[in-house]
Amino acid sequence: MDSSKPKFIFNCQRCGRCCETRGDLPVYLDDIERWSKDGTVYRVFADLSVAEDSGLPQIRLTNKEGRCPMYDTEKKECSIFDSRPIACRAYPLRFDGHGFLIRDPECPGLNQGEMSQEALEEIRDAARKEHQEEERFIAVLPIIHAILMKDIVDRSEKEFEKLSDEEKEKIKEIMKKNEEQKEEMKDEPGEERGE
Ligand code: SF4
Ligand code: SF4
Repeated sequence: MDSSKPKFIFNCQRCGRCCETRGDLPVYLDDIERWSKDGTVYRVFADLSVAEDSGLPQIRLTNKEGRCPMYDTEKKECSIFDSRPIACRAYPLRFDGHGFLIRDPECPGLNQGEMSQEALEEIRDAARKEHQEEERFIAVLPIIHAILMKDIVDRSEKEFEKLSDEEKEKIKEIMKKNEEQKEEMKDEPGEERGE
C-alpha cells in the first residue's frame, strides 16, 4: 500500500450537483472584500441577504428556485467561478477547528482519480480559511455589516449610474421584489434558516 496516498482524494466532476442542491451559501468578509475589489459584488448584490443564525446576522447568497443564483444552468457552470465564495472553494471539505470532515459524502468528485499534494493543500487551506472566516465574522459582523452595506450602497450607486436605462429598470424591479419579500417575511412567524 502506498503510505503517501492522501486519505482524501477529490477531483471535481463539474456535475453541478452542489450548486443545484445547496441551500443559502454563507458569505464571509473575505468574499466581500474580494468581490468589492474585482467587481463581482455588483453581480451578486441582488442575491445577498441577511439571515439570523442563533441570533447573529449572517450574510448569505440566497438560493433561488432551489439552486445557487450564480449557477448558469445552460452552460452548467458557476458564473463567478474565479471569484466563487470561500465555502465553494472548500467544498466538499470542512474544517471544524480540530480536523477535516467531508460535508457531502455523496459528492461525485470524491475518490476520483489522483490528487496532488498541492491540490490537497489548496482545498485544506480553503477549509481552514472558511473556519477562520466563520469565527472572524461572528466576532465582528454586527459592525462590519453596517459598514459594508453602506460601502456597497455607495459603490452600487456609482456603478448604477453607468448602467443603461433598461438595466436600471431591471435592478429597480429586483430591489422592489426584495422589499416586497422582506415585508411578507415580517408578517410571517420567525423561521430559522439552515446552511
Ligand atoms: S464539488 Fe462535487 S457535487 Fe460539486 S460539482 Fe464538483 S463533483 Fe459535483
Ligand atoms: S457560487 Fe458558484 S460554485 Fe458556489 S454554489 Fe454558486 S454556482 Fe456553485
